[in-house]
Amino acid sequence: MIIVMQAGASEEKLQEVIERIKELGYSPHLIRGEQRNVLGAIGDEREKTRLQYLEALPGVERVVPILRPYKLASIEMKDEKADERSIVKVGPDVSFGGNKVVVIAGPCSVESRDSLIDTAKEVKAAGASMLRGGAFKPRTSPYAFQGLEEEGLKILADAREETGLPVVTEVVNPEDVDLVAGYCDMLQIGARNVQNFALLKRLGDVKNPILLKRGMMTTIEEFLMSAEYVLSAGNPNVVLCERGIRTFETATRNTLDISAIPVLKERTHLPVIVDPSHATGVWQYVKSLSYAAVAAGADGLMVEVHLQPEIAMCDGPQSLKPGTFKELMDDLTKFADAAGRSL
Ligand code: PEP
Ligand code: MN
Repeated sequence: MIIVMQAGASEEKLQEVIERIKELGYSPHLIRGEQRNVLGAIGDEREKTRLQYLEALPGVERVVPILRPYKLASIEMKDEKADERSIVKVGPDVSFGGNKVVVIAGPCSVESRDSLIDTAKEVKAAGASMLRGGAFKPRTSPYAFQGLEEEGLKILADAREETGLPVVTEVVNPEDVDLVAGYCDMLQIGARNVQNFALLKRLGDVKNPILLKRGMMTTIEEFLMSAEYVLSAGNPNVVLCERGIRTFETATRNTLDISAIPVLKERTHLPVIVDPSHATGVWQYVKSLSYAAVAAGADGLMVEVHLQPEIAMCDGPQSLKPGTFKELMDDLTKFADAAGRSL
């Protein structure tokens, strides 16, 4: 159920409603809005009509059921008329879901200190606002490079120190959540782990915002249910990432589901970004799909960039060289403009 407070209702009245929700055995989730505050009461679906009486409390405007199976992730949690959406902040300077299109760039995996720091400087100079790089790599083959693990995390932290760019890296194992959270600004959950519910629940224990990638075979509803796991575990800062899904097409590594952008925007208040690198697997297609994503309303991009893709330890064929990334960034300005956004 959603409890919509009246515009200007006092903090005292809000706290009173929160207490009543708890008394009824539901957990309150507060979303503060510019106009009015909204409370989600999450718990046993069968008994939810008991919450209807909250409508009689002072300061409450209305109590409405959330019809979708995902509750906290649903757009209904926000004031739709005001087109209110979640802004997810990473560090003091990066905001997903605002006017600015956020670009994350960097190599698939952290390979060495020098190469990561050089790449970070290049992508920063080209206009990227965040650095990516995998320290724990979920690889299809057990014989492939698995990442530098904690050493890779230290290198990421050094690259942040050197450039000021906040860093995002993947966490694969529930046991490593605290370790990765200690080094990085944002935690990535990869496509292969989007339905690793034990891992998703652990994300409620950390303050870091989460970059949740869509699985290659998850429907949009399943994707939003995964986001719901993180939100209901107590971490409200989730950014969704469309990164291509598996189809019958083999010309590209995956098929970018561009329609996921407007569909997600209609159903959820969470920011949505696009990863054109994993979506195609081919660097030559990355620019076009980046433009398409921004034109379709994406709040950001995540692009793989490598100094020497020919010798990359992971995903070289889909990685842009810094010069091509710079071209992408320069041209992206026009598409951002056309979509009413800035870079
Ligand atoms: C990645 O971003 O490096 C990655 C492994 O992506 P995905 O989980 O989307 O395959
Ligand atoms: Mn990769």
